Amino acid sequence: MNYRHAFHAGGFADVIKHIVLVRILLYLQEKPAALRVIDTHAGAGLYDLTSDEARRGGEWLTGIARLMQARFSKEALPLVLPYLDIVRAFSPPGELKAYPGSPLIARALLRPQDRLTACELEPAARKHLIDALRRDAQARVVDLDGWTALPAFVPPKERRGMVLIDPPFEAKDEFERLAQGFSEAFAKWPTGSYLMWYPAKSRRVTDDLARHVASETGKSKPAGKCLRLEFSVAPREADSGLVSTGLLIVNPPWTLTGELKTILPELEKPLGQGGAGRFRLETPKP
Ligand code: SAM
Repeated sequence: MNYRHAFHAGGFADVIKHIVLVRILLYLQEKPAALRVIDTHAGAGLYDLTSDEARRGGEWLTGIARLMQARFSKEALPLVLPYLDIVRAFSPPGELKAYPGSPLIARALLRPQDRLTACELEPAARKHLIDALRRDAQARVVDLDGWTALPAFVPPKERRGMVLIDPPFEAKDEFERLAQGFSEAFAKWPTGSYLMWYPAKSRRVTDDLARHVASETGKSKPAGKCLRLEFSVAPREADSGLVSTGLLIVNPPWTLTGELKTILPELEKPLGQGGAGRFRLETPKP
């Protein structure tokens, strides 16, 4: 396993994913009943933006650093602010020195009755995450393959909550694993919310995944809902790195589409390279 999220922490893909994560969790907390967050590929938890990896990757400079400087309309600001406030809480006032990964973002939003289960397979990242969540009775870091944990941990005993599936896409079969893992988990827990990340590189492969997820959600009774979001920061070119990030959201809050239509146009300028920021939001067809 070579993947190190420290190179990418706080980049545009993290920003989009984490804004959506925060919006889903805030919605789920409108009801007092306890909820569970399951993070199948959790990462190291907290990333030092002054580290060698973050400096060499440099992605946060065109991601979270740009967002911190951006001006938002009075409609979008209250929707983005909870995310920005969580990120700010990890740095001294007025500075940006660290970036929280998904487990720490989720942790920041847990109420006393809520729980987090985070899987991380890479030993150094897992140790870092355990240290970041030390003595935390509400959060558990598990040394389990996220693909094994995914069907095994659902439905959680709380029966409410969400699963974040955010694999590194290092292995060739990760799109198939994601499709298969989602199907197994959804069959056991059709009322959970699922947030799945993918690199939007190949149109054919990502369309296949979206169709698969839409057809699975359509089979449940009552049919689940599905949203697909892609955000590009530059035109796709054969030899470029990741310029387009994708998310599939199953059983999204009914408020999410409207919120994203308010937020996303205001991210195109700060995150896009030379005015090339674009988003697409759709309901995928089976
Ligand atoms: N979810 C994190 C966030 O948003 O901050 C980023 C996660 S990163 C994209 C993917 C992580 O999954 C890496 O830290 C990697 O070590 C870990 N990983 C890779 N394969 C795994 C597996 N089969 N089970 C659990 N973790 C795995």
